[in-house]
Amino acid sequence: MAEHTPRRNIETWAHELPASFIECRTTGHRWEPHSAVWDKQARAYHVIHECDRCHTQRKAWWNRNGEITSAGYSYPEGYLTKDVGYIGADGRGVLRTEYLARIFTTTARGNGSTPQASC
Ligand SMILES: [Zn+2]
Repeated sequence: MAEHTPRRNIETWAHELPASFIECRTTGHRWEPHSAVWDKQARAYHVIHECDRCHTQRKAWWNRNGEITSAGYSYPEGYLTKDVGYIGADGRGVLRTEYLARIFTTTARGNGSTPQASC
């Protein structure tokens, strides 16, 4: 059995996360096409999408038929939760609470104005 990694309180952790990370963890990434390069050896496209909010990259191999043969992510510094362990339902609740407090603060506190409609 490996030694225990010290775990930080999840509220503290969420509170210190950049707003962009909170948004992506709550509502999902906002993928933008980044690049698609044919690789002769792999006989597939190396397709990269990047989140324009937190800059996580999704890197995948797409073959000629468009099948994804392997995929992975590379995360920006600080995105992963090494020191708080697995984020379960409770943790996601904490993130959502933090999201409400941080992202909606300005609209919620305004002068009772209705939230702006987007697009
Ligand atoms: Zn993101």
